[in-house]
Amino acid sequence: MSGFVFNEKPIQIERGDGAYVYDDSGTEYLDMGASYACVPLGHGHPAVRDAVTEQFEKITYVQASYPNAQRTALYELLAETAPGDIDNTWLCNSGTEANEAALKFARSATGNSKIVATMQGFHGRTMGALATTWKDKYKKPYEPLIGDVEFVPYNDSEALEEAVDEDTAAFIVEPVQGEGGINPATKEFLQDAREMTREAGAALVFDEVQTGMGRTGTLWAAEQIGVVPDMLTSAKGLGNGFPVGATLVRDWVAENYGSHASTFSGGPVISAAAGATVSTMVEEAVPAHAGEVGAYLRAELEAALGEDVRDVRGEGLMIGVEVKRGANRYLKQLALEHRILALPAGRTVIRLLPPLTITESEADRVIEALTDLLTDT
Ligand SMILES: *Cc1c(COP(=O)(O)O)cnc(C)c1O
Repeated sequence: MSGFVFNEKPIQIERGDGAYVYDDSGTEYLDMGASYACVPLGHGHPAVRDAVTEQFEKITYVQASYPNAQRTALYELLAETAPGDIDNTWLCNSGTEANEAALKFARSATGNSKIVATMQGFHGRTMGALATTWKDKYKKPYEPLIGDVEFVPYNDSEALEEAVDEDTAAFIVEPVQGEGGINPATKEFLQDAREMTREAGAALVFDEVQTGMGRTGTLWAAEQIGVVPDMLTSAKGLGNGFPVGATLVRDWVAENYGSHASTFSGGPVISAAAGATVSTMVEEAVPAHAGEVGAYLRAELEAALGEDVRDVRGEGLMIGVEVKRGANRYLKQLALEHRILALPAGRTVIRLLPPLTITESEADRVIEALTDLLTDT
């Protein structure tokens, strides 16, 4: 047996360029999900390619306890662009590691152990992050996980108030739930969460692994909500395809982080990739573009869709189309008939997470294809 984890799709992708990917026979597909929010600037972006190539030619890796210029520059850039006074960065290799670190930091900084998380939430698959993930399917075979996790319904401030108490280390929440079906949080819920965690002395953690890096129309979703969490985690789009995660942390947490480290933390090539991605995103106002194209796409989908569709929701270019029957048959048709690759989110949601650089005419292609598939009843 080999490579037993993934269910492989019948398309072998060999090449990418901007919002397009190409299979081994040269067929072109519009990437509305093949890159899983990991390539916000589009495939093969020259700024990222050049930064990585230049660093690769100097040195690929040096032990993390030696400072390197790329990592220092990335720390500064993230401190500048993070919401409010979040000034400290821990770098790692993935989303689950970024959340794992956040949970550890919350425990050491507060001296408490209890973690509050949300129903339908997803925070990753290592033991700690997995314990805060909702779905039993992901957890059951591996139990017992870390104890002391309490789940509250998403957007339910009353339940949150009951759960967050003086024994709480952290409340971890996605500003828009991704895997759970593209469910945006209400502003009130996250504002209430800010108040409640502050009063209890617990850390508020925004998991922006999927919502961050411009996806929702601002660099971080927290900016739109007007809430500064104590920690904000990032990964997926952070390195425009390179494996890098970050836990952004306020001083009071960073000062009491305990002892945490990782061999590959902030390696020079990965730091160069993330630095080029964040600075291009800011310089070229990519998040604002994502906000505009996303609003257009959502409005047009809402207007065009017929009886098969329950709901269209999301923020920016993080869009869910909830259908009445299973999403998978539509995803197959989108790929085979329309050459558009998209994703599911649960059983009934078609999820769109394209490069943020897609144009309005590319959005039109998606609207036409989905309208075609979803209105012929
Ligand atoms: C994908 C995801 C993770 C896990 O990231 P990995 O890099 O797969 O470990 C965590 N949280 C959210 C919100 C995600 O979307």
